[in-house]
Amino acid sequence: MSQRESAPGSTASLRTANQQRVLDVLRRGVPVPDDGVALAPVTQADLARLTGLAPATVSNIVRDLSAHGLVDTEPGSGRRGTTVQLARTAGLVAGIDFGHSHIAVALGDMTGALIADERRPLDAGHGYADGLDLASTLLAELLAAAGAAPTGLRSITMGIPAPITDGVVRSSSILPGWVGVHAQDAAQERLGMPVHVENDANLGALAEHRVGVARGHTCSVFLKISSGVGAGIIINDSVYHGSLGAAGEVGHLTLDEQGPMCRCGSRGCLEAYASTSAVIAMMAGQLPGATLDDIVEAAEAGNVAAVRTLEDAGLHLGWGLASVVNLLNPGLVVVGGDMARAGEFLLEPARIGLRRHALDAVAATPVVASQLAERASLTGAVLLAAERTELLAS
Ligand SMILES: [Zn+2]
Repeated sequence: MSQRESAPGSTASLRTANQQRVLDVLRRGVPVPDDGVALAPVTQADLARLTGLAPATVSNIVRDLSAHGLVDTEPGSGRRGTTVQLARTAGLVAGIDFGHSHIAVALGDMTGALIADERRPLDAGHGYADGLDLASTLLAELLAAAGAAPTGLRSITMGIPAPITDGVVRSSSILPGWVGVHAQDAAQERLGMPVHVENDANLGALAEHRVGVARGHTCSVFLKISSGVGAGIIINDSVYHGSLGAAGEVGHLTLDEQGPMCRCGSRGCLEAYASTSAVIAMMAGQLPGATLDDIVEAAEAGNVAAVRTLEDAGLHLGWGLASVVNLLNPGLVVVGGDMARAGEFLLEPARIGLRRHALDAVAATPVVASQLAERASLTGAVLLAAERTELLAS
């Protein structure tokens, strides 16, 4: 909750608090039995039930919010009463997702729903200033295509594939051009508005938890497996950041002290077996120059080496996951990132590896593919940007 100007308990502060409760319901949607949540529009009766406010109070609040351009109402038909939803004029938010070799940018509304998005390749060695320039260009294009003024944008969340502490990008050979950069300051200066910076796996975890395959699980783990391996951890419906903001670096769980060298300088890390770079390196002799998609295609065509390589990656992934589920007992493990495109070639051996080393109590933890696929982190960025925007601040 943000600071209010009115004194606590005063009529004005109570009014604002009640308005906030109504807006919160409109953002999060209405719980429905089989599907998790349905987003707005909701009826005024739904609003009264979900906020615990009297119907007459809800009616007054909706009228006020509508007068300020924050909500749209539509008269009901038949037995369905007047419906209410957040107005497009309430503002827009944006998400930016930097990967090892791509950038994706999206516009969203105040419920955190994606309106439009764009993805471009980006050289892994790019400097952070060039990355931000491209983000700014793509954002301007999306706004223009949506017919929205740049001033309609309220806030941005930016995902980076690295641990981030105090807004600074730490130790990442994934994006060398960003290491040591205060990403939040740099982005706010370039984009001219509030920017929140978050680890990309955390954003993927949030997205799968809210609108993806992990809906309904209070605790879940999202693994982003691309050229690096990171995890976003949801505990009691919130992203767990750890004391410095660097929680979830499961790519460097040690699986074998004598194992292959990892880019972190240690040996036998999970990342050295299960990342896309590890899989591509392992297949370099059999299929020189093959991309991950080429390897998956070869596996589908029955190439024994490709099947075996993905299976090895999956087994090692499962061994690492056994430690994760023994420690956290999530209701679900979601596998995302580029490696998720290997599907069951990766996931089935991962389940076998997990069962081999997890305690009985947690050995049946489901391991499933990301539902949001390549848009997981981007979707999380938009959701978080919407959540962090204070609608009543002005
Ligand atoms: Zn490592």
